[in-house]
Amino acid sequence: MIVRVGYILLIICIFVQCDQDEPAKTHIAIVGAGLGGISTAYWLKYYLNDSVAITIYESDQVGGRLKNVDIDGNEYEAGGSIIHEKNLYMKRFTDELGLKRLNVPSSMPYIMTNDGSQTLFSTLSRYIPNVFLILWRYGVDALRLNFWLDKKLSNFARIYDYQDNGRTFNTVEEFLQMLDQDFYTATRFSFRKYLFEKGFHKKFINEIAQIATLVNYDQSVDTINAFPGLVSLMASASTLWHVEGGNYLVPKKILEYLLKQSDVQFVKGYVKSVTEVHRIDIDDQGGNVRLSYKPLNSDLVHAVDYDYVIIAFPLHRDNMNDFVLQTTDSFNQYDYRMQSTYADFLYGKLNCQQYNLTKSECERLKAIFYTNPSLPYRSVAQQQTVNENEKQYKKNDKPVYKIFSPNKLSLSDYKQIFDNDNFQLIQDIPWLAYPKYEHPQKMPPIQINKNIFYLNAMEWSSSCMEIEVISARNIAMLLTKKIGIELKRSDKHIEF
Ligand SMILES: Cc1cc2nc3c(=O)[nH]c(=O)nc-3n(C[C@H](O)[C@H](O)[C@H](O)COP(=O)(O)OP(=O)(O)OC[C@H]3O[C@@H](n4cnc5c(N)ncnc54)[C@H](O)[C@@H]3O)c2cc1C
Repeated sequence: MIVRVGYILLIICIFVQCDQDEPAKTHIAIVGAGLGGISTAYWLKYYLNDSVAITIYESDQVGGRLKNVDIDGNEYEAGGSIIHEKNLYMKRFTDELGLKRLNVPSSMPYIMTNDGSQTLFSTLSRYIPNVFLILWRYGVDALRLNFWLDKKLSNFARIYDYQDNGRTFNTVEEFLQMLDQDFYTATRFSFRKYLFEKGFHKKFINEIAQIATLVNYDQSVDTINAFPGLVSLMASASTLWHVEGGNYLVPKKILEYLLKQSDVQFVKGYVKSVTEVHRIDIDDQGGNVRLSYKPLNSDLVHAVDYDYVIIAFPLHRDNMNDFVLQTTDSFNQYDYRMQSTYADFLYGKLNCQQYNLTKSECERLKAIFYTNPSLPYRSVAQQQTVNENEKQYKKNDKPVYKIFSPNKLSLSDYKQIFDNDNFQLIQDIPWLAYPKYEHPQKMPPIQINKNIFYLNAMEWSSSCMEIEVISARNIAMLLTKKIGIELKRSDKHIEF
């Protein structure tokens, strides 16, 4: 009997001992399951592995601004759609996840117009290659552009070496300055002024640069600052790709992988507030940040404490009433605004008559870009499905068009673009798409206070998928350092 009691005590002892030996996990909440939030979880697992427990909260769809729209059984990108060939993190994810990359058509016959009736420039000629047409119109600016952008791109690509070697940044300004002092300078001026001072001519600025910023950020060369302006030009002058099946598959599949790991949870619910917890008693163990959320299909608000919380969605004046955040005095959500952009999907036949195009030019026309920012629309372009490659796209016999516009369009607006009644609106999707940029640009903080980080602060440098992943890796590294764990320096990939 005595032996038996001793045996039981030993077992209890072993259990207690086990508990004491197991290192305490750091509990981290991520609010938002877009690409940014999900890739933060990826990098946290990459650096901290079993020493971290992660909960991801999402009020809507996984993928956020990466989303497909279904039109008669075919899927199209409705949000973030194109990825630059030099975006190494997006490439890395698609490789690790076994996803396929499809190139976006490199030469799409288009016209550029100022007022919606007069053609400024077109690439509809069957006989003259685009490169000659562009050189003829923009001369030396066109020649300089590629060399200049290549240099800027290679400076941007420094981020990959820096991050592989454990280098972090604490502010958006520091991020820009460590890559190229000129990137930071660019945020101080309008894109027009910046390009003018770099020696580009009025025609190039009013047409090529204007279209790049209107199409990519729905903002003109006069309102946008020059860093997102540069990013727009890079996106217009390069090889671009998208993920077969839809870009949203990247966050979706990373999440599926993470949920198979221990200590990763996904909660469907709306996070209502994130505030610091001030513990008076030092023995009072628990997290530093209190997060309250309302689960989907419930009116009860739950509160959970975490060691750290990462906000992975944009904070701006339009959502500050729905979400309470305890911030330092220097950060005021109210200062930041988002650009509203509609993505409309239609069947139709473009109205060629007003541009005096021949029948064969009209048949070749796939896109129209509008350079005048006071027009109600920015661009209309034939779409390829998320599964089509470049060749299939060219053969499409019932084309779907996407129009970008800052506000909801009226019937008469559509009639300006399409052959009178020859169109059918299928879906219009309103987005708060990207930050409304200004100059000089005010940047939000990456670290809101001691234990709250803000992933989307980096979007105020420029909004794109790759920036979100760079920001995610930076925050994961900052946290790893803070927790006191040595950073992995190698660039070893995770096996999915
Ligand atoms: C029309 C459009 C076109 C674009 N084109 C491109 C492009 O071609 N190339 C490119 O690289 N980028 C493009 N972008 C930008 C790119 O899509 C975004 O930069 C990127 O997807 C943002 O990811 P994110 O995770 O940071 O934010 P989001 O995708 O916005 O994710 C945030 C998530 O947080 C959730 N959330 C918000 N509040 C709460 C809350 N209180 N509680 C719980 N969950 C919450 C949201 O539901 C959302 O799912 C485009 C964007 C749009 C809208």
